[in-house]
Amino acid sequence: MKTAIKNGKIVTYNNGISVQENQSLIIENNIIADIVENSQVEKKYPDAKIVDATNKAIFSGFANCHTHFRLTLARGIFENESPSNTPPFPGYPRRPLPEISKEEHQIMILLGAIESIKAGTTVAMEVAEGIMDYADELQKSGLRLVLAEQISDRISGSYGEPGEIKSDPQQNENGLEQMSNLYSKWHNYDNSRITVGIAAWAPDMNSPNSLQTIRALQDKLNVLSTIHLNQLWGEVQNIKDNYGTTPTKYLEQNNFLNDKLVAAHCRCMSTEEEKILGEYKSTVSFNAAIAARRGLSPNIKDLEEFGCKIAMGSDNMDENMIVVMRTGMFMERVRMTDGRNPSPNEAYKWATHNGYKSLGIPDAGTLNKGSKADLIIVNLLQPHLTPQTDIVSNWVHMGQNHDVESVMVDGKWIMKEHKILNLDEEYIITKANEIAARVWK
Ligand SMILES: [Zn+2]
Repeated sequence: MKTAIKNGKIVTYNNGISVQENQSLIIENNIIADIVENSQVEKKYPDAKIVDATNKAIFSGFANCHTHFRLTLARGIFENESPSNTPPFPGYPRRPLPEISKEEHQIMILLGAIESIKAGTTVAMEVAEGIMDYADELQKSGLRLVLAEQISDRISGSYGEPGEIKSDPQQNENGLEQMSNLYSKWHNYDNSRITVGIAAWAPDMNSPNSLQTIRALQDKLNVLSTIHLNQLWGEVQNIKDNYGTTPTKYLEQNNFLNDKLVAAHCRCMSTEEEKILGEYKSTVSFNAAIAARRGLSPNIKDLEEFGCKIAMGSDNMDENMIVVMRTGMFMERVRMTDGRNPSPNEAYKWATHNGYKSLGIPDAGTLNKGSKADLIIVNLLQPHLTPQTDIVSNWVHMGQNHDVESVMVDGKWIMKEHKILNLDEEYIITKANEIAARVWK
């Protein structure tokens, strides 16, 4: 079955962003099989199902390179319980996440998935412990996913909390085993729509042994790795106190840095560390919205100049990548006191093409012939998107999640005209409210 998306404005990335008018996308199986003139569609592809995109734009979907879907449970609370950015660092100040059942956990995860899709995300890297418990439910959303099983072996104190770091090698072994099981069951599932990655939690949550064994397993399985890096000033203090170095150097000493590493945050970082990360060509997941909520900002321009790839992620309590993309552009302009840079095109590229590349999917995140069919249809007939002089600039500066009408992943619609197709949105929202009302009272 072929689908022809006709009469829309197609936004592609190919050594620069361009907007193609008078063209139609021909989708066959999971690929953009062809791009033809609107007038040629019926002649060339008489059996294609036509989707009329008049007054609509077709963008690449967002690549969310760092999220924890379960933390939707903490929405309205953790956004405002930020750790201290100046000494003393008393550890993570927020309340613990309440215990909920496996089934309730799945509801909160699916809430995050629905929110993601409605704001135009097509691929997400989910970072968590025990993903096996909900991988099957989550994959039913139709999203493209990188499932990154998180491992840590610290048993004293919490993330960012000073004190002697004690670790348990058995806890690390258990994590590695969970990772191997997840890989066996889910890596390259459904035409590689689902892949598996490996995550260390953070420099002060993983011992040298843990980092080294995680890296060894990464190499053995040939998968992506990820870690929270230089996220908190408490983490920086901890690594100094326990190992006499900086978080990024600590990772380098333990063979953790590589070009298939997605380092999340990178905001409490020295120039020396930025240069080291750049030398390894690691990706920085610029989690701009949560960074702004925490009152911190990474030095994105410098990281990029030193060789890092810049991609974007939502992190916690907010899965809206439109907001992440816009906040990233705003924050970097404020940080640099430069009202022109980064440009909307740069921010758009970070949030789409760069993200896909960093997640190991180079043939997506753009709408070229032969690319994977991961795309969103955006209704341009909105006051805030009018006039359509520069639709990419409008999308980055003014886009709203309700503008996203339809979402396609791997050639299949997962949202069509605002309706989520694979999950029961109303049921999940109702249940999620019930769960939160009970556990936070
Ligand atoms: Zn995180």
